[in-house]
Amino acid sequence: MFLVGLSGGIASGKSTVVAVLRELGCAVIDADVIAREVVQPHLKAYQQIVRYFGTEILLENGEINREALGNIIFFHPEKRQLLNSITHPEIQKEMVKQILKYFVLGYRYVILDIPLLFETKRLIKFMKYTVLVYCDPQMQLSRLMKRNGLPQVEAEARIASQLPLDEKYKLASHVIDNSGDWENTRWQVLRLHSHLEDSLDFLWVRLAVGTVVAGFGGLVYLLLQHFIS
Ligand code: ADP
Repeated sequence: MFLVGLSGGIASGKSTVVAVLRELGCAVIDADVIAREVVQPHLKAYQQIVRYFGTEILLENGEINREALGNIIFFHPEKRQLLNSITHPEIQKEMVKQILKYFVLGYRYVILDIPLLFETKRLIKFMKYTVLVYCDPQMQLSRLMKRNGLPQVEAEARIASQLPLDEKYKLASHVIDNSGDWENTRWQVLRLHSHLEDSLDFLWVRLAVGTVVAGFGGLVYLLLQHFIS
């Protein structure tokens, strides 16, 4: 099995591309969804967040007020680090669990949808391929303004708070250019999909696991023979 990291920039079209990959039957793990799940009430990360940030970051229903927490970490980088040190291990544990699930189900590769893949860089080394959903800056701005109903200055500020797509471009092994129409993007996703399907790397993992299992089975057999006779 191998891993494929997928990322983009705000409104570059990542959700659009992921929808096509899912439609094609790919296993996609969404880091954003996991990040929301691990801070649900009474889980380990939730308890630690409340311990360090206080009950004032809670909503009335007991859930974490993500906006309030977001504001705190925006103005206090050391608190962002603290929050990351609480949530990242839990997110990674859940990701590994889901990867194993797909492995057991027989998937040859898993796509990890990770918003900050190229910013943090830490996870890149685990990926066989990294895919960037790119969009030219002008198109990105206009799609963001339209989707979120934002005035231009605000949309520009949101884009400026991220690593520019052109920087991410240099780090990616594959790029889907979503500056054009849906059909063009879909065609690129289909091409990427057939490339992934044709990749044979998963065979090595299967072979290695098979060898270990067969070796272990053989050892158990020999031991049984020894003790029975
Ligand atoms: P992301 O998930 O990267 O933030 P989205 O997939 O939500 O971005 O796309 C941003 C917006 O642009 C959405 O409103 C989407 O419908 C629109 N969009 C994405 N790709 C295209 C395209 N190729 N042509 C026209 N509109 C698009």
